[in-house]
Amino acid sequence: MKAHTLWLQNTLSGQKEAFEPINPPFVGLYVCGPTVYNEVHMGNLRTFISFDVLNRYLRYLGYTVRYVRNITDVGHLTDDSGEDRVEKRARLEKIEPMEIVQKYSRGFHRVSDVFGLLDPDIEPTATGHIVEQISMIESVIAKGFAYEANGSVYFDVEKYAKKHNYGQLSGRVLEELDQQTRNLDGGEDKRFFADFALWKKASDETIMKWPSPWGIGVPGWHLECSAMSTKYLGKTFDIHGGGMDLKFPHHECEIAQCQAAEEGSSARYWMHTNMLTINGTKMSKSLNNSILPMEFVSGEHDLLERGYPPMVVKFFMYQTHYSSPLDFSNEALQAAEKGFIRLQKGMELLENIPEGKGSKEDASVLLDALNDALHHLTDDLNTPRCIASLFEVTNSIQRMQHHSTSLDSDTKSQCLAIFKGIVHQVLGLELSTNHAHNDSLDKVMDALLGIRKKARTEKNWAVADALRDGLSSVGVTFSDNKEGSSWEIK
Ligand code: AMP
Ligand code: ZN
Repeated sequence: MKAHTLWLQNTLSGQKEAFEPINPPFVGLYVCGPTVYNEVHMGNLRTFISFDVLNRYLRYLGYTVRYVRNITDVGHLTDDSGEDRVEKRARLEKIEPMEIVQKYSRGFHRVSDVFGLLDPDIEPTATGHIVEQISMIESVIAKGFAYEANGSVYFDVEKYAKKHNYGQLSGRVLEELDQQTRNLDGGEDKRFFADFALWKKASDETIMKWPSPWGIGVPGWHLECSAMSTKYLGKTFDIHGGGMDLKFPHHECEIAQCQAAEEGSSARYWMHTNMLTINGTKMSKSLNNSILPMEFVSGEHDLLERGYPPMVVKFFMYQTHYSSPLDFSNEALQAAEKGFIRLQKGMELLENIPEGKGSKEDASVLLDALNDALHHLTDDLNTPRCIASLFEVTNSIQRMQHHSTSLDSDTKSQCLAIFKGIVHQVLGLELSTNHAHNDSLDKVMDALLGIRKKARTEKNWAVADALRDGLSSVGVTFSDNKEGSSWEIK
């Protein structure tokens, strides 16, 4: 498998780069996890699903991955001078902040299980790493890139930018930012508009707060990811990911903190996923246009015509590259469902194809298409192209079945191993294994086809057409040929 070079789009360089781990076969992967002040919506999950594919694919390639995805349970303020999101929610629900954290972390884990995401190897929380965050602030102060003001500590962006490239990740230019944000900002203790809090003094009302060398307070949001990624993956590690809305300020500030604490540190590859949108607008809690993952499953949402199995929702996501926006629509979900059923059929046909002498040509067509599918994954995880190749495989197998061809047993097992490896291991799609159900469906359809054949022989077109129309209304189509009739779920 190592023969495949993986190419990843690196936001830091703006280039697609060949992926070379610092210390193979080990790969350190850090992804910004959810802020657990309410339920994760499908947009959040799109990002976690995209990184699940990366995590799975790296493992499939034989790397030993340490996947760290944090839980933000303190420090994420509503704005720079505002209230902590978790505390605000706790006040609204009249429960402890830690009850909010437990409730929504559990919800996130349940949803991750339903959608078949692999658990991270380490899932650190911000509240569990206050000591590490304080020590990182001390390093930044010692290097002269942070200052204390009235019990809070701020990162000195102006000073940092004189020595380092602040904006290297997001492409933001300080002078332009100045114009945009000067009046929007409420942090009175800051020296410079772009400075950001590493430690924020707590008010008497603040519930979650900790002692520090600068007094009682809370850590800044950007800091937790720097402290926890370096603790578990080292000062320089392989891949850091998150949604593209985190590029600025969150990730830009993370890089600045790491570089300020120790020059040359931080991640080598930065990957950003694009947004799930509704009518072109980012799905977001604050815009009141979010759909929860379990609502996709149950169909209980005004925008959903019906529910869809979790694997169909994932398949819908894979049909768009992770770095492109994905707009929600019922039509696209229904098309994805048909595609998913088709893929499943391809796998079943391959499993059932008779072993025999087979033809060399059939074997090479199948293997080529499967290798193409694998190859597309090496190209920055191009799942839509990978799936298109799997459909080609399905078409070829259907052709072979139609001509009653066999496949030699070596090729068959090789093809099955690649097909299953991509579908199960990399894409994390569990195909329905309910063969009992499929068998009985086959029997019912055979009986119906028998009735239709009889009707046609007797030229009873009314019955034959009624059968065809009735079944077509539930998505089953017939095709008639010399050998008889066959059916397909579209
Ligand atoms: P948060 O809980 O707000 O910190 O977000 C968790 C993750 O979800 C972050 O990586 C965000 O970038 C990502 N995210 C938020 N909204 C969307 C969206 N509509 N589509 C895709 N990813 C999103
Ligand atoms: Zn983060």
